[in-house]
Amino acid sequence: MAYVYDDQNIFARILRGEIPNKTVRETAHTLAFHDIHPQAPVHVLVIPKGAYVNFDHFAAEASADEIADLTRTAGDICRELGVASDIGEGYRVISNAGKHGMQEVPHYHLHILGGRVMGRLVERLD
Ligand code: AMP
Repeated sequence: MAYVYDDQNIFARILRGEIPNKTVRETAHTLAFHDIHPQAPVHVLVIPKGAYVNFDHFAAEASADEIADLTRTAGDICRELGVASDIGEGYRVISNAGKHGMQEVPHYHLHILGGRVMGRLVERLD
């Protein structure tokens, strides 16, 4: 089954400059900006400029340059915002995908969350 990318999603509109964002860093292939509803003192979204729906789409079809650029940019931001584990107290990187992942915006993104203890990764069901 092919991936279907909705080019009207809010991050596509941010990338086209139709909606403002608080940019943290921009590179050839990647844009990082503050989440509009931060869930931690540090809450930055890192997105590819290419049209990828989620992590598995990006992993399957992005170029090596795009993958390296997004990964390196996310790491640079952890350092820049003081949460990298060698200089700060750490952080969590999350990427939600699809219905079970409860993804809201269908453009691949990493959440970088830090500045507080993040709690358990997922709720226990028992
Ligand atoms: P997800 O549930 O992983 O798809 O997360 C989508 C995230 O995008 C949420 O944390 C939203 O708060 C965030 N968000 C939605 N619209 C905007 C926007 N215009 N600018 C910045 N962040 C946004």
